Amino acid sequence: MSLAAILPWHKALWSVVCEARANDKLAHALLLAGPAGVGKRQFARALAQALLCESPDQQGEACGKCRGCVQFEAGSHPNLYWLQPLFDDKTDKQKRDISVEQLRDLGEKLVLSAYYGGSKVVVMDPADALNVNGVNALLKTIEEPPPKTYMLLVSERPMALAATLRSRCQRLRFTPPAEAEARAWLREQEPALSAVALERTLDLAQGAPLRALAGHKSGLLEQQGKWRSDWLEVAASSRAPTAAAVAVGKDREQVSAWIAAFIAFLGELLRARVSGQQAGDLGQVPGRIGMTGLQAMLDEAYDAARRITTSASPQLVVESLMIAWWRWSMARGAAAR
Ligand SMILES: [Zn+2]
Repeated sequence: MSLAAILPWHKALWSVVCEARANDKLAHALLLAGPAGVGKRQFARALAQALLCESPDQQGEACGKCRGCVQFEAGSHPNLYWLQPLFDDKTDKQKRDISVEQLRDLGEKLVLSAYYGGSKVVVMDPADALNVNGVNALLKTIEEPPPKTYMLLVSERPMALAATLRSRCQRLRFTPPAEAEARAWLREQEPALSAVALERTLDLAQGAPLRALAGHKSGLLEQQGKWRSDWLEVAASSRAPTAAAVAVGKDREQVSAWIAAFIAFLGELLRARVSGQQAGDLGQVPGRIGMTGLQAMLDEAYDAARRITTSASPQLVVESLMIAWWRWSMARGAAAR
């Protein structure tokens, strides 16, 4: 691990937090809330390190040299507790919840005095992995925090957190940066990316720069290109909706990415219709799909994004979306319902 940098679009939020800290007014429980890929975790890391650093600089950033920083960067700072759901050996996947045992263990450690007499920092990542029992186990600590203890709760879905927990945290809102800032940052990370690819990657990630970068590195962009041809072919009736659905596969995470990409595609199409400029391959989408159809498709896609986080069958979710898309492109959408 290396010194966690403050992302350019976090600077204002960082100043607010550091000023509060300098005036000894930093809340003991902070909820870092916002969509995926805008840098909440990176901010939590930078803040945790700054809180554990023995000589932070004028901007409140960690020095990177002191004993605290060296241990932090080695991942072995004794006053840092980074809680995530544990890995399950049986299923070979990360568990869904942060367990009550993990929280009891944390509670026991937090009442002991901190090493070197410094601060203690707990990061819950993601905080929505706390189940009801977990929240109950944590409430006492949040209500009566041991001295110099800071809890950073990271969440993409703050509304999924128990209200009792949410109300005890000060909320830091994270949003995607302005488009130009996001582009400039991504360009710096991936200088070889073409302007069109960069634009599309950001679009696919709904403007979230870190998500865009991860999507690019994992080959999601290339994958999205294939999906996009499928959507265009289904709309033109040159590919069966069920065949396009089968090609997506059954993996829930893959299907989630597919839905996000479809939402971005529909958004792009809607913007093109509104502006009257249907550049590139979007011109292949039949004019029969009007604004009503596109809006209805978008509603359905958002609904699919919600359903995929439940126990809904990924295959069925994709199939019904593709059939709806095909019907609307045949101007039979409304009749089908
Ligand atoms: Zn330091």
